[in-house]
Amino acid sequence: MIAMMITPTIILLIMGVVFGFGIGIADKFLKVEEDSRLETLISLLPGFNCGACGNPGCAGHAATILAGTGKIRGCKPMKDTHEKNIREFLANAPDPEGNLLDLSKL
Ligand code: SF4
Repeated sequence: MIAMMITPTIILLIMGVVFGFGIGIADKFLKVEEDSRLETLISLLPGFNCGACGNPGCAGHAATILAGTGKIRGCKPMKDTHEKNIREFLANAPDPEGNLLDLSKL
């Protein structure tokens, strides 16, 4: 009885080690670097997640701003203070390569 349980246990242990090693390698080589400005930019938007900007929520709009494809004022419920705070933040927050966004195009 115990002998019948040892073989599957050993097989499962070996599979766990192999898959764990594979996941570790995949994490190292397939990791997607996220722009560190994204979370702050999301927090500076109104946060209604209404979709009026044409994006799937504030996170989507923030991503388009950082990509340079979206306008800050594309957010319909945004007030002037939101825009001012976002522009101040982006003027002083370079991307990981050290480049600043061209705020005149946003
Ligand atoms: S319109 Fe503004 S508040 Fe609404 S989801 Fe877009 S960024 Fe968020």
